[in-house]
Amino acid sequence: MGFVIEFVCPQCAQRFSAEAVQTYCQRCQSPILARYDLEQMARSVTPPVIRQRKRGLWRWEEFLPVKDRQWQISLGEGDTPLLPLPSLGKKLGLRHLYLKDEAQNPTACFKARGLAVTLSRHLELGLRHFRLATAGNAGGALAAYAARASAQLRQAGQVCIAHIYMPRSAPLANRIEVQWSGADLHLVDGLISDAAQQAAQDAQPYEGTPQSWFDLSTFKEPYRVEGKKTMGLELAEQFDYQLPDVILYPTGGGTGLIGMWKAFDELEQMGWIDTKRPRMISVQASGCAPIVQAFEAGAERAQAWQNAFTLATGLCVPKPFADRLILNVIRQSNGAALAVEDQEIQLAQQELAQLEGIFAAPEGAATLAALKKMVENRQISSEEKVVLFNTASGVKYIW
Ligand SMILES: *Cc1c(COP(=O)(O)O)cnc(C)c1O
Repeated sequence: MGFVIEFVCPQCAQRFSAEAVQTYCQRCQSPILARYDLEQMARSVTPPVIRQRKRGLWRWEEFLPVKDRQWQISLGEGDTPLLPLPSLGKKLGLRHLYLKDEAQNPTACFKARGLAVTLSRHLELGLRHFRLATAGNAGGALAAYAARASAQLRQAGQVCIAHIYMPRSAPLANRIEVQWSGADLHLVDGLISDAAQQAAQDAQPYEGTPQSWFDLSTFKEPYRVEGKKTMGLELAEQFDYQLPDVILYPTGGGTGLIGMWKAFDELEQMGWIDTKRPRMISVQASGCAPIVQAFEAGAERAQAWQNAFTLATGLCVPKPFADRLILNVIRQSNGAALAVEDQEIQLAQQELAQLEGIFAAPEGAATLAALKKMVENRQISSEEKVVLFNTASGVKYIW
């Protein structure tokens, strides 16, 4: 494998080597994105070949940055079901309503995709010490994959250490899954932004040493988005390479939205899909909706949200680092950004459970709450293919 040519800053087009450890574009304070040799990839693999492979995210290995298969750390992530929602569809007057159920990933959350890929690649690049600021679920995923990788590394007398910083108010499940996996858990007063500050401070003494703590926080490195991209690849395959009309996605840091959009671009350039794109609907909680605010204001960047609070903890990101890219995807796709109240989220959680048997995370249920508004406002027609994303299991939020 090895189809990554380089990384590119989407703001200034500066290029970065794919062979060295990379972070982000310091000059633009922007994430950088991997560019693949798509012509070569199109000659190496076809949709039927991918379809026949063993289930899981790694069957898209040509689209992923890990070179040597021995570094593909796995807990069986990916290939989550695309469930039809007939009862809800009927209630809302939509004939083709689906839910991609990311709760069926390891750690019961889609964060597994990004962390599996970025950890695999950074281990391949020789790193062993990591830090991460998280609202909760990314920490759980990193802790799990670090433990999984350590089992393999131990044979070579090595270990993989994850320093995880999360708000003290994070769901109990997140705190316990991190601790019991043997990761180094730090609970911080405040939000994910405060956790990031504390992590950076604690990492300082190790900087420049072989034990340096590499930052795996959202978009501070270019590989998590590659893992999240597989949601878009799977969705394309599940729809026989004819993309749906509307995707509703709960947006925190924006990796899912940006990753899926990147997947669609790559598939088009390889000739696997045509130019038709879904409208990308970014769903946030009204207690923390910086993207919705920026979208409505026609702004290029989001402003830091003050006094953020929502029970959908994964959406409690007051200032997404990739704000410009998120807003670009929404606008390029002719999409929208919508905020929903926590109360509406809880109601939607119950509706999904009662009418479809899906116990969704509040973030996932938020997409149903937003869909109801769009239907009311006639922003979706009855024949359109609509996909909701449930990003985690409701079980992770019982505390
Ligand atoms: C992190 C998280 C989100 C937000 O994801 P992004 O792709 O980073 O915007 C949504 N839902 C859940 C459950 C999460 O853990």
